[in-house]
Amino acid sequence: MSAAARTGTLLSVVVPVYDEQDALPAFAARLRPVLDGLGVRYEVLAVDDGSTDGTAGLLRALAADWPELRTVRLRRNSGHQAALTAGLERAVGDYVASIDADLQDPPEKLAEMLALARRDGLDVVYGVRADRSSDTAFKRGTADAYYRLVRRLVGRHVPAGAGDFRLLSREAVEALRALPDQPRVYRLLVPWLGFPSGEVRYVREERVAGSTKYPLAKMVRLALDGVTGFSAAPLRLATWLGAAAFLTCLLLLAFCLAAYLSGAAVPGWTSLFAAVLFVGGVQLVCVGLLGEYVARIHAAVQCRPAYFVAEDTGRRAEPGDGRAELGESGAGGEEFGDRAG
Ligand code: UDP
Ligand code: MG
Repeated sequence: MSAAARTGTLLSVVVPVYDEQDALPAFAARLRPVLDGLGVRYEVLAVDDGSTDGTAGLLRALAADWPELRTVRLRRNSGHQAALTAGLERAVGDYVASIDADLQDPPEKLAEMLALARRDGLDVVYGVRADRSSDTAFKRGTADAYYRLVRRLVGRHVPAGAGDFRLLSREAVEALRALPDQPRVYRLLVPWLGFPSGEVRYVREERVAGSTKYPLAKMVRLALDGVTGFSAAPLRLATWLGAAAFLTCLLLLAFCLAAYLSGAAVPGWTSLFAAVLFVGGVQLVCVGLLGEYVARIHAAVQCRPAYFVAEDTGRRAEPGDGRAELGESGAGGEEFGDRAG
């Protein structure tokens, strides 16, 4: 970071945005004064994750008198983590922060994160939720269980309540970019890197406007991607369940024989039915778990990009411009995201 300090630090702020027309004006109005007052050069990289509302128009309007605002528009909704990937790949800052567009992460904390990172020479500063009272009890409960699980899986310190509000050094960003992992779950990958890290506590506020873009299905997807990306333990569940089923069957067999020998061999429909259901259920669960890993291998083998960029306002469209920058992924003028998707 010493060279950066001499030439002036550049901070990139990556903001994944999906159908946030209601929240964006308030977000921009609060973010800009914070960044203008930081005393460092900055760029804001808004990644429009295939929004279908007025988000794209709003971003254009905002960029008209905010030169530091750069918009990367993805062709279709690719998901929060893919949008983050698009931002991390394009950010050029010495430090790269990521923040949600709904003001649940207070922009004012960016100053604290940057100061902490520079003072202590940290590569990662997590925004840690000190109070989640604004989240629903269900969201808090599932989140707690999830963090307990991932701490065991990742095998490193994963701060409880650390989401995707964080600051990364250029070194950490480069380390992330070099990872072949797909799909990515940054809140696990970042702690797994093991870079020197610190925490800034913040109160998670209510979403300023609009509704959550993380329905239950997406939350479950994120949880499964995280678990399967770090552990094969669920696969071994099949072995344990199979062993348990086998032992239960042995007991049942002894019971059946005793009943038969004592002449009390009633049809036994209930126990038979229960055993069939139980074994069938265990098998389906195991096949499903296997499927999760096969799907991961499938995605890795396919090597499809996680996103497609439709427009990047940081790259001026001039004849011949961009060709070199697009490099080997620039075939057909389309810019591709990271490997696999
Ligand atoms: N987001 C995105 N793509 C998606 C879903 C969400 O870019 O497919 C963005 C969203 O606009 C927001 C951030 O990711 O800036 C977090 O989403 P949200 O606030 O809806 O999640 P929650 O806070 O409810 O978990
Ligand atoms: Mg939110």
